[in-house]
Amino acid sequence: MQVANNTVVSFHYKVATAEGEHVDNSNEGEPLVSLIGHGQIVIGLEKALIGKQAGDKLSVTVPPADAYGEADPALDAVVNRNEFPPEVRKKLQPGMQFRAEHPERADQHVLFTIHGVEGDQVFISGNHELAGETLQFEVEIVSVRAGTADEVSHGHAHGAGGHHHH
Ligand code: ZN
Repeated sequence: MQVANNTVVSFHYKVATAEGEHVDNSNEGEPLVSLIGHGQIVIGLEKALIGKQAGDKLSVTVPPADAYGEADPALDAVVNRNEFPPEVRKKLQPGMQFRAEHPERADQHVLFTIHGVEGDQVFISGNHELAGETLQFEVEIVSVRAGTADEVSHGHAHGAGGHHHH
């Protein structure tokens, strides 16, 4: 069976940036399981999987536009601690996230992450950590099957390696 929209693909993968920096991989012996056509994986990888089948090995280069988008320089900023509500000012630390207006487009809300705190300076970014990165995937397809009606209506794969809930 070939990979198409609404099929469930299990595959092993390794992904690195174009500079060769390791980003992620499937666990040893445990492939990732994904319902295709529902945004579960980056669009560039979905496109490359379409038409492939079990046993196929692929090397896929995905530009930022088909991965996590371009980095927006306006979303990397240094703000003063006093701009945060009093109840969180003293607790600010790297890794904390908050939603705020885009600095240039007030109608748009962005999820920011605190990357550092030095004195009263708080370094924040609203860019995904992989924004602007070209990603290099190495993929080996383990199996392909049709998605069930439940999976297609939920928008994710069920079962081992898939979404655990219900
Ligand atoms: Zn579900």
